[in-house]
Formats: sequence, structure tokens, C-alpha cells
Amino acid sequence: MSIEEELRARSGSVCELCGADTGLAAYEVAPSDGSADQCILACSICRTQLDNPESVEANHWRCLNDSMWSQVPAVQVIAFRMLHRLRDEGWPQDLLDMMYLEDDVRTWAEAGLAAEKAPRHVDSNGAVLEAGDTVTLIKDLDVKGSSLTAKRGTAVRNIRLVADNPEQIEGKVEGQQIVILTKFVKKSG
Ligand SMILES: [Zn+2]
Repeated sequence: MSIEEELRARSGSVCELCGADTGLAAYEVAPSDGSADQCILACSICRTQLDNPESVEANHWRCLNDSMWSQVPAVQVIAFRMLHRLRDEGWPQDLLDMMYLEDDVRTWAEAGLAAEKAPRHVDSNGAVLEAGDTVTLIKDLDVKGSSLTAKRGTAVRNIRLVADNPEQIEGKVEGQQIVILTKFVKKSG
């Protein structure tokens, strides 16, 4: 059986979140090994909103009122994360308070939350920086441990993000790999 067939058998061919019976496909619940146990069957509306936090319509997720009680851990994980995302609406917090998760399921659910909350690297204007971007220095910077001053206006190409520090990026200035504070750079168009 394919994953989707397994999921259809498990769910009775309906979205395991909202019960819709159209636009169904497997949705991996990250971090996932791709097995049916770590996927859910979800409709296109649910999948779109799961992947695009800005498109979430809180009212659609009233369906979690029922589906949060699913016996399927992957469904519980998604319900937990979505309620968490929406908790400022009030009612999702009430549901979260009622929700019970086994320890290992809770660990899985929270692993996803941590990933969502991972701080992003942003420049002096708040623009999100990605590895490989080019940035411009907005002030003269003395490079630690050398006589080099990186001049304001210098373009730094192909930056790297310092993984454990959202305030730092790395890039080459005059052939030297240096650490630069994100508040001193501006992303180039
Ligand atoms: Zn759905």
C-alpha cells in the first residue's frame, strides 16, 4: 500500500483535521521519517494554511475542536501546533488547556514549535537575510584581530548565517572571512 492508501484506510478518506473529502493528500508532520505514522491525510485548505502561516483563517481551525481528540499521534501533533499558533484568539488556548499528549507525542509537537520560532537573521531594516545574499555595510567596522577596517558601503557577497546567533552573519571583506553584526548591514536589492 502507498502511504496515501494507508492514510485513506486510517481516516476513511477524509481530511483528518477538518473532515473534508476533497483535495486530499498526505501531509508530512515534520520532523518526519515519511512513514504513514508520521503523516496525516489533509485537504488542500488545511495543507495550504499549515504551510503558509500568513494565510491562516482561525475559524477554519474550529475543526480542531473534534480532531484534537484523534487517536493518531500525527494528528494530535498538528492540532497542538496549530492551536498554539492561534492561541491569541482565546478559544484555541482553551482547547490546548484541555489537550492531553503522551510525553513522546508532546516532544514531537514541541520540536515543530521550536523550528517555527527559530529566530531569523534580519538586517538593519528588518529585512530577512538568507545564506548567499549580498549585503552592504552601513558603517565603518573595525575587524577584530586585524588592522582592517571594513568601510561603510562595502558590499559583502555570499554571506553565511551564523546558526546559533541571529545577530551575526559571516562574509568575506578584502579576502578575509569576518563575522559581521546584522544590525550594521543592509540587504542589497
Ligand atoms: Zn482539512
